[in-house]
Amino acid sequence: MASEDNKAPAIGIDLGTTNSCVAVWQNNRVEIIVNDQGNRITPSCVAFTEVGRFVGDAAKNQADKNPTNTVFAIKRLIGRRFSDTSVQNDIKRWPFKVVAGPKDRPRIVVNYRGVEKELNAEEISSMVLEKMKEVAETYLGCNIKNAIITVPAYFNDFQRQATKNAGVIAGLNVMRIIDEPTAAAIAYGIDKITEDTEGKNVLVFDLGGGTCDVSLLLMRHGNFVVRATAGDTHLGGEDFDDRLVEHCVREFKTEHNRDVTGDARSLRRLRTECERAKKSLSFTVRETIEVSYLYEGIDFSTRISRARFEEINMDLFTRCTDLIEKCLTDARMDKTRVDVVILVGGSTRIPKLQQLIQDFFEGKELCKGIHPDEAVASGAAIQAANLNGHDDKKVQNLVLVDVTPLSLGIGTDQGCHKMCVVVPRNTPIPMKTQHVFKTFLDNQTRLKIPIYEGEMAETKYNNLLGQFLLDGIDPGPKDVPRINVCFEIDADGILNVSAQDLSSGRKKEIVISKQNGGLTADEIQTMVEEAARYKEEEENQKARVSLEDLADKVRAMAQDPGLSATEKKAMEEAAENAIAWLDTNCHARISEINERQSELETILQRLMKLKQGGIPYDHILLMSRGV
Ligand code: AMP
Repeated sequence: MASEDNKAPAIGIDLGTTNSCVAVWQNNRVEIIVNDQGNRITPSCVAFTEVGRFVGDAAKNQADKNPTNTVFAIKRLIGRRFSDTSVQNDIKRWPFKVVAGPKDRPRIVVNYRGVEKELNAEEISSMVLEKMKEVAETYLGCNIKNAIITVPAYFNDFQRQATKNAGVIAGLNVMRIIDEPTAAAIAYGIDKITEDTEGKNVLVFDLGGGTCDVSLLLMRHGNFVVRATAGDTHLGGEDFDDRLVEHCVREFKTEHNRDVTGDARSLRRLRTECERAKKSLSFTVRETIEVSYLYEGIDFSTRISRARFEEINMDLFTRCTDLIEKCLTDARMDKTRVDVVILVGGSTRIPKLQQLIQDFFEGKELCKGIHPDEAVASGAAIQAANLNGHDDKKVQNLVLVDVTPLSLGIGTDQGCHKMCVVVPRNTPIPMKTQHVFKTFLDNQTRLKIPIYEGEMAETKYNNLLGQFLLDGIDPGPKDVPRINVCFEIDADGILNVSAQDLSSGRKKEIVISKQNGGLTADEIQTMVEEAARYKEEEENQKARVSLEDLADKVRAMAQDPGLSATEKKAMEEAAENAIAWLDTNCHARISEINERQSELETILQRLMKLKQGGIPYDHILLMSRGV
C-alpha cells in the first residue's frame, strides 16, 4: 500500500441495509470500484467464526452454516434504542442475538473465536465501511481517508451521528453524510448541468433492501435543492422476501403439517431461495422455489407466478406509491409538474412497482438510465470529489443544498405536551434560527427544554432527542418573552440547541447527537482500538494460513522422486516443524509468524536454486541454519 497521500481521492460510500457500494470520481467520470470477488456491490454482512471475522461476500456465503453469528441489516439498528418498537420487531425475526446494552443501546451478541462478544451497531457498520475503504485502497493504490457516506433521507439525528461514528471507527474522515436520494439525483444530474437552464423537478424513488425513500429535488445549473422528502425506514426488498417466506412456510405446513418457523437455519435457507426467486420474477413470469432437506429431512418445492408474488405484496407496493403522494403533498406540487422520475435501489427492478409508479405519473417514462444499485454511491463520489477540491470543472459546478428531514421543536407548555416547531421540516441546512419563549409562572427560575423531532402536534408521538434545564433565570412576571432558544444545524444535519435567559445572560446548550444513546468520544476511541485489534487478528490469521500453505507446498515437493531419502526427510521435517510451531504457538505475534515464513521460504529458495547446481539438499539445510 502506498503511504499517506495528500492528493488521495475522496470516495463515496453507499452504506446499504443489504449491500454497500463504493465509487470514486476519476478520469472525468465516476468509477464503481469492484471488490476482491470482482463484484460491484458488497453485502453489508459481517460474520464471526472460530477462525476469524469475515466481511462482505465471504460473510454472506457462509451465512446458512453460521446464522447466529452472521450479522446483517445492521442499518436497521444504528442510532436506535433497544426499546424502540421497530428494533423489538426486527430482532424477533433475526437469527442473531441482540440484547439491551447501557443507555438502552442495542448490542449484538456473537461468538468470536470461541468467546462471546457484545458489539454496538456502530462497530458492525464500521466493519462494513472498513471493508469498502480497503476495496477502494486496493483499487486506487493509496491510503484513503476522506469519504462521504449516504443515509436514508428519513434517518434522524441519532442515526446520522451513529453512521458518522461508524466511519470514524473505520478510520475514515467522514466529510459529510448525505441523503441517498440526493446522491442519486446528483448522479443523474452531473451530465445535464450544462444542458439545463430552466431547472427541473426531479423525483427520486429509492427502494432498496430495507428502506423506501422518496425525494423531490429542484435541479438547476448543478444546484440541487431538496424540496421535500418522505420515506419509510421499514419498507423494502426484505419485506417482499418475508412475504414469500411466509407463503412457503404456509405451503410447507399444509403439505407436511410441519412448522419450520422455529428453525433458524431452515428459515435462512428458505429466505435465500425466496430472494433468488423474487429477483428472477422480475424477468420471468413463473419461478420454482426449491430447498432440499428443508426441515426434518423433507425437501420443499413450489412454483410461484409473478401474479401471485404481486398479489401477496400489493399492500406493500401501495405503501410505496403512497409515499410518493405524501412527498408531493408536502412540496405542494402537482404530479404533472414532475419532470423526471428516477428509480434507484435493487427493488425498483420489480415490474409491477414500475408500472404502479408509471400509472401514478399518468404514463410518464421513468428514468432507469442510471444503474439502480450504483446511483447512490456514484452521487456520493461526485459530491466527495467536489468537497475534496477536485479540479474537474464538472464536479466544481456542483452545489448542494440539503434540508431537515423532520420538523424540530421543543415541548412548550408546563407539561411539555405540545410541540412548538422551531425548524420546520424541509428547511435548507446548514441553518441557524432563534426563537424567544416565555416563562409559564411568575418568578420562574428554572425551565426544562425538551427537544423533539417529528410532525405530530403532541410531543408524546414525536421523537425526544434530548433535554436540558436552564436554571438561574432572573425572577420576573410570567408570559414575558425572555428565553432565547437557538437551533443550529451543521452541514451533516447535526443539531446544536442553546437557550439563554435574556435578562441574566445565563446560557445552556446541548449537542443532541452526543446524548441519549450516541457514543461518547471515549467510547469511539475504544472502538477504534478494538477495530485495530480485529484487523491485527485478521492479518495474523492470514499470516498463519500463508505459513500453513507454504508448509503444504514444501511437503508436496518432498514427494519428488528425484530427491534423496535424506533430502526428503529434511524437507518433510522443515514442513512438519512449521506446522507444529503454529499449533503450539496459537498466540504468536505476526512478526514471529513472518519470521518462520521467511525461514521456510529461504529453505525452499535455496533448494530450488542450488539443486540446479547439483548441491545436495543436506548441505542446503545446514547452510540455511547458518552452519
Ligand atoms: P439495495 O439495497 O439497493 O442494494 O437493494 C437490495 C434489494 O434489491 C434486495 O432486497 C434485493 O433482493 C433486491 N433486488 C435486487 N435485484 C432485484 C430484482 N431483479 N428484482 C427484485 N428485487 C431485486
